[in-house]
Amino acid sequence: MAVGIQSKVKSFFRSNLKRRRRLSSPSSEYEYKKLRNTSATTIEDDVGPKLDLQLESPFFRNLPIEIRRMIYELVWSEPHDHKYHTLRGRHIHFVDGHWINMRCVMYEDDEDLDLIQKNMDIVHNSGKGDLVMWQQRLASTWGGRHWRCEERVQYGTQKSVDGTNFMSMMLVCKRMLPEVMESILESHQFIFNDFFSAHRFFTCNPSPYITHIRHLDLSLSLPFYEYAPFIVDRPKSRVRELWEALERISCLHDLRISLDIYDHGPWRKIPERGVTAQLKNLEVLGKFTVELPPSLPIRTHTPNMQNLDAHEELPFKIVRRPPLRYWQFTPGDVERFGWKTHTKGQQSHCFITIDRAARRIPNPYLLDLF
Ligand SMILES: [Zn+2]
Repeated sequence: MAVGIQSKVKSFFRSNLKRRRRLSSPSSEYEYKKLRNTSATTIEDDVGPKLDLQLESPFFRNLPIEIRRMIYELVWSEPHDHKYHTLRGRHIHFVDGHWINMRCVMYEDDEDLDLIQKNMDIVHNSGKGDLVMWQQRLASTWGGRHWRCEERVQYGTQKSVDGTNFMSMMLVCKRMLPEVMESILESHQFIFNDFFSAHRFFTCNPSPYITHIRHLDLSLSLPFYEYAPFIVDRPKSRVRELWEALERISCLHDLRISLDIYDHGPWRKIPERGVTAQLKNLEVLGKFTVELPPSLPIRTHTPNMQNLDAHEELPFKIVRRPPLRYWQFTPGDVERFGWKTHTKGQQSHCFITIDRAARRIPNPYLLDLF
């Protein structure tokens, strides 16, 4: 039934397009001059003298903006939407000088943050399967839940599921463009899985329509140097720039920010209090989640490195990823390991013990050595 409605909607736009061509005759010029002397001049002045308000189109003349928005929503409906977990989720990333958006193909089961390691448990216990392949997914900087989407990007899989009506709708007419842009941003969930793309999208000449984003998911796996300014309280930081840009989005309904660090192997520790301090200023109308690395028994002396768990009331919900139990410490050999803490006097140290080998891997965080 949805397909039928969609085809009707599309034919409506096509007939509108033909009408627009007819309006390029001198009569439209007459209408335009007439409009300059009517109450509609405000719109003309805002958008420039060449805009045709398309008032001969029944779409604009007869339908209020609320109905037009409902029609745009129908245009965005895709036949594959019911298969996937995210509400019209689109991965946005900047590759080779171009912005690319692809459908998020994660399933509901992928929300389980331990799903990859559960699969590794099965392979480890049965001896059947490819642990190295699962290890690559576990170590991915895309976060645990979007590994299917990342592999589609890596292997260049192009499917009809990625197709959108965005461009065809944006090209209908100048009058429709702002409404179309607002509807695209309001009706989709935008997912960023690399910091470079997110920072560029929100801080480098951002689109004026960005404030219409309603559903946003950021999975940021950063190198240690991006977190370092928060340990020494340096004000200049690209992460802070991104947070400030998010504050300008006035009507966020859902926001998830997943933070991780990738250059310390299986160790996961970030200066949580410093990094998230600015997130308290964000206004999110609905669900606001900050996903953090597991709370490991790593001793630290810097206040910014302390955990957020026993902190004051926060405007966001904290979700912690489960501790890692698999890693590839030597190439080609994925090992299962455990976490141990050794206490001597007032000092305690955290280290990794390999299940099938009598060796320990020390904590690489310099702060723990003090
Ligand atoms: Zn995805």
